[in-house]
Amino acid sequence: MLMDALVKAEAGPGLKLMKVEKPTPSFGEVLIKISKTAICGTDVHIYNWDPWSQEHIHPPMTIGHEYVGHIAELGAGVQGFHVGQRVSGEGHIVCGICRNCRAGNEQWCKFTKGVGVDRNGAFAEYVCIPATNVIPLKDTIPDELVAFFDAYGNAAHTALAFDVAGEDVLVTGAGPIGVMAAAICRHNGARRVVVTDINDYRLEMAKKLGATAVVNTKREDLKAVMHEQGIVEGFDVGLEMSGAAAARDQMIDSMRNGGKIALLGIGGSSNVDWNKIIWNGLTLKGIYGRTYDTWYKLTAMIEAGLDLKPLITHRFDYHDFEKGFEAMNSGNSGKVILNWEADK
Ligand code: NAD
Ligand code: ZN
Repeated sequence: MLMDALVKAEAGPGLKLMKVEKPTPSFGEVLIKISKTAICGTDVHIYNWDPWSQEHIHPPMTIGHEYVGHIAELGAGVQGFHVGQRVSGEGHIVCGICRNCRAGNEQWCKFTKGVGVDRNGAFAEYVCIPATNVIPLKDTIPDELVAFFDAYGNAAHTALAFDVAGEDVLVTGAGPIGVMAAAICRHNGARRVVVTDINDYRLEMAKKLGATAVVNTKREDLKAVMHEQGIVEGFDVGLEMSGAAAARDQMIDSMRNGGKIALLGIGGSSNVDWNKIIWNGLTLKGIYGRTYDTWYKLTAMIEAGLDLKPLITHRFDYHDFEKGFEAMNSGNSGKVILNWEADK
């Protein structure tokens, strides 16, 4: 049987909406009928066929890893789930037997395979993943939000890497993940959350989701804003969400002695002055993916009142996927949702 899928059909820019073979769940796997997907920055890299994609992606392959759907079929041996159940999926498929996996630190598995990166993804009518990666969902959370729980998980995993209660937090980069991280910090009791970017649209989004102050570092002085906000000795916690070398360097210069930095943004080599890290007693923590525990916290924080709906700026039918990627590439977007249900 054939199904529609968004496929990186050959090495080069763009994606093709085409008919591909509907997957069949093998032993231990679950087939999910997709309802909604969200476009991630990684999908945009793959769409644009940037140097990272050229190295990592092997066409032809269906992409996409932010999604919600319903279980359509259980492979042999799968227990604890039922057909029709609303689910999402953890996008990192890990080995399960390495030291980190066995210690419950699957996010550090050296043998991780990414859904929609190393194997066929979720921008399709169906996706097949191991049952171990299936995430059951509560009815309280609307589909549109679950569609980007994967990215929200990255934000939560980073924002909660250090204690933010009562702390002053600097978030560099107001992409969807940075904006969600800012909202999570406020929700978890941070005193001030200052967000920097070089794009006013995105800074507006950060404000809408609760940032205390936003700074366009192209024309505004972060130090002046810190002064206005009563941040005297520097930020207690830094969340690097831009991947820009300039932002990373600025963060290192803006921390309180003893400050803690979680780094999620990928890219840009920087001329880090290691002596500053040593003399100022900074802690640096690299963040990759998310833990299963964050999946629980994602639902819990929304149930406790965290509102991420304003982050959704565009909604398209999957046939109009080009418009979705155009919105993402413009920089003037938050989360872009693609609908895969014929009737909604
Ligand atoms: P994004 O590209 O949408 O957002 C990055 C933002 O940084 C943009 O708004 C951009 O204008 C801004 N920026 C650029 N230069 C800046 C500067 N000098 N100062 C401040 N801001 C600046 O990305 P996203 O989807 O929100 O993801 C955030 C980052 O996290 C990306 O680098 C992404 O690759 C990375 N990421 C990492 C993981 C991981 O597991 N480590 C997972 C997902 C995403
Ligand atoms: Zn492993």
